[in-house]
Amino acid sequence: MKPDTVRTRADLKQIVDEWRRSRLTVAMVPTMGALHAGHLALVRAASEAADRVVVTLFVNPKQFGPAEDFGSYPRTEDSDRALLAELGVDVLFAPSAAEMYPDSFATSVSVGGPAEGLETAFRPHFFSGVATVVAKLLIAGMPDRAFFGEKDYQQLLVVRRMAADLGLPTEIVGCPTVREPDGLALSSRNAYLDARERAAAPALHRGMAEAAERIRSGEPPEPAIADALAAIRGAGFVVDYLEIRNADTLAPVADWRKDPLRMLAAARLGRTRLIDNIPVPNPA
Ligand code: AMP
Repeated sequence: MKPDTVRTRADLKQIVDEWRRSRLTVAMVPTMGALHAGHLALVRAASEAADRVVVTLFVNPKQFGPAEDFGSYPRTEDSDRALLAELGVDVLFAPSAAEMYPDSFATSVSVGGPAEGLETAFRPHFFSGVATVVAKLLIAGMPDRAFFGEKDYQQLLVVRRMAADLGLPTEIVGCPTVREPDGLALSSRNAYLDARERAAAPALHRGMAEAAERIRSGEPPEPAIADALAAIRGAGFVVDYLEIRNADTLAPVADWRKDPLRMLAAARLGRTRLIDNIPVPNPA
């Protein structure tokens, strides 16, 4: 029954090689599992874009810091597989840590450019962990396209830079963020929120959206961002960063009236760290 669960890169290669011989196109959706509607939107986009879909499930130890939630990250492979079966996914690639990183493993992919600042200031290990595992996954499956969420906007740009710089033949496709009706971006980590935190959590997106609207209507960014920070902190968040960057490069903004703009934030509510980002329209 679909999806076939595949544990090794050799088995994945055999299946993909067979598809290739039949001239079928292949899409990949990398995930850490605990699937929600945000992941499933990527899977649907992948299904529309290719003949065959591989979803990968790997909680990548290299992208967690020593004090982070690698041990407690939700692992729900059986229910994930059932959701993917409903969407007609062909292969679930769920390797072990030893398959991806045998004892002798000694390489890491480090990315500059869009990886500089923002998340990197708080999680210095994070993007080289992501770039290393995504490079391995793309090399293992050689998909025509791979799908990533704008929810992790900096990650999307880092992966796109890495794939281009290493000459990987895969097109990196970004998909819009899926949100709860109250604006909270879906995330596997939302499961960590208790009822009171869950009620407070939409303040992050709300504060950002209000600031973006003020900037669109012509106000300079500084007071809009200062008010957003105050509102987000007032809801109980400890803010790691809330910044507007160039949406294409994530470089600091040179001209906020003309540059493409993206507002990005990370903030902690109790023990849960949430990230979010939205486009900021230039003033009319
Ligand atoms: P993760 O399992 O958290 O590593 O996420 C796997 C992929 O799903 C990444 O490309 C994420 O950006 C994407 N993703 C996670 N949450 C959402 C969301 N709310 N909307 C769209 N994509 C998402």
